[in-house]
Amino acid sequence: MNVLYVNGPVQNGPFTIAERPGKAAGIRAAEALNTLLGTGPAPHLWNTVTLAGDLRHRDAPDRDTVGRQEREERAIAAKYAPGTAPAGGVLTDTAPVVAALALEMTERLLQDGVLAITPVAVRLCTRCGHMTGVVPHTCRACGHQTFRPHTRPLLVWDRTPGTPVLARDDFHAHQAKPPGHLLTIAQNVPERLILSRTRDHGISLAPLGLDGLVLDPRAGVHITVLAAAARLGAGQPVMTVTENAAANVAAYGALFRRHDGTRLRYALHGRIPYDDTAVLQRLYEVHRVSPAQQELFLTWFLPLCSLHIRAGITPAQLPALLKFWRRAHLARPETPGGGVPAELRRRLTAGDMRWVMDVRTLSRAIPEPTVTDGFAKEPEGES
Ligand SMILES: [Zn+2]
Repeated sequence: MNVLYVNGPVQNGPFTIAERPGKAAGIRAAEALNTLLGTGPAPHLWNTVTLAGDLRHRDAPDRDTVGRQEREERAIAAKYAPGTAPAGGVLTDTAPVVAALALEMTERLLQDGVLAITPVAVRLCTRCGHMTGVVPHTCRACGHQTFRPHTRPLLVWDRTPGTPVLARDDFHAHQAKPPGHLLTIAQNVPERLILSRTRDHGISLAPLGLDGLVLDPRAGVHITVLAAAARLGAGQPVMTVTENAAANVAAYGALFRRHDGTRLRYALHGRIPYDDTAVLQRLYEVHRVSPAQQELFLTWFLPLCSLHIRAGITPAQLPALLKFWRRAHLARPETPGGGVPAELRRRLTAGDMRWVMDVRTLSRAIPEPTVTDGFAKEPEGES
């Protein structure tokens, strides 16, 4: 019990939600589901431990007066339209509560002999010192081509051969059939995973004796979800994530999806073609869809749909989805306030998303359109 939907931390790049609404799909889906479940509000999670962030900070003209942490915080705040900060706050993957949990989990894994700190032969960029793996390639931090060999202690996970890093039950119940290739990708990760990185910003591993290294952010995003769940007392956090993102981070999160009885699972969602919604303009007029209803369609219904249509919503599907949603909207109960039906709550807890394609159930789940900005809010007033 105690399911809480939390977004897979979004990379804190230079964009606003208004410019890139697709980036908020996981956030919006989680928010809609938590509201229906009567839980939350969950914080919005942001991934700040990125090489791109390091580079932006290094190149920033005001880098002497603005610290990296502050730069990240400013960038997150700028994501939201004025006055629309999330009700549940934001949580970054370097927040003190996340760092404390990360060190606690890592220390325990070291004590248990699952993780080890071991000298590893790596390559360092001769210009900037950025550490790459064993495969030669251009320095991702500065573009330099020359490296020197170097042996230094790193945090490593040497898996015993055959240890799975991802299994079917790592997905929320109804998604017990994750895409086969996702499981295949996860099976093909190297037997040794290096969990420490050179980054300017991150969860420092200096307390473990690894000066200058931070925890791999792909592990960190999972710990951020666990920290958000702990804050809200949820034992079953469900992380909304695209298939690509899951393929990228799942192996590194394998040791960081469980903690003290809390178990993180993934809910995969597909992409939403927000760049192709111009086709809807004419339909909005034909069907007299009010601006508030348009907003709900885009920021509430489509994100929920994306959890059901995991292969991604195509632009060609948008007109039919709008008509369907319009139909459900018209079928809403005349006297709102019946609350979310128990059956729907049960399905939400179980991760069964088929209900979004059921007009009757959908009609009873649609919130009052109180949306005035890019983010769906909880309906005003309780019933
Ligand atoms: Zn370099």
